[in-house]
Amino acid sequence: MERTLVLLKPSTVMRGLIGEVTSRFEKKGLRIVGMKMIWLNDEILNEHYAHLVGKPFFPALKASMMRTPVVAMCLEGTDAIEVVRFITGYTNGRKAEPGTIRGDYCMSNQQNIVHASDSPTSAAIEIKRFFKPEELYDLGDLNMDRLYALDLS
Ligand code: UDP
Ligand code: MG
Repeated sequence: MERTLVLLKPSTVMRGLIGEVTSRFEKKGLRIVGMKMIWLNDEILNEHYAHLVGKPFFPALKASMMRTPVVAMCLEGTDAIEVVRFITGYTNGRKAEPGTIRGDYCMSNQQNIVHASDSPTSAAIEIKRFFKPEELYDLGDLNMDRLYALDLS
């Protein structure tokens, strides 16, 4: 069972899409094992987007991520990191496939609805960045046989 980190970005909060986007993950069968609102600041964004420091769009990206609180959630499931990236879609909403969250809900490359961890290494770091251990819950095997049948791992 893997865990991954998702942020619902301020554009999602401002557009009233928190419920709709969250329900995409829930309906897919991913389980929310941690969830909270956080108002991000310079320090955490410099760390979170360290791979983009120096890009011309970096200041605008940071400003867009601080306009409102974000909703941080930790999602759990078999292959959760890959599954969440797949249903999130390509970074630029205008190029993201219809049926993906970004493809269905945005026209922006920057304000593209969600952040999702892109690898097991970054998922582990990002979950720690946004959640204390006691803010994450073990939901046991409730409903797992219906979600996964035999391919549980
Ligand atoms: N971003 C941007 N302009 C770009 C590329 C990225 O504003 O040309 C923003 C966008 O919000 C994106 C975030 O920077 O989600 C992180 O970029 P990354 O390449 O990690 O894309 P992601 O993993 O979010 O698909
Ligand atoms: Mg990324």
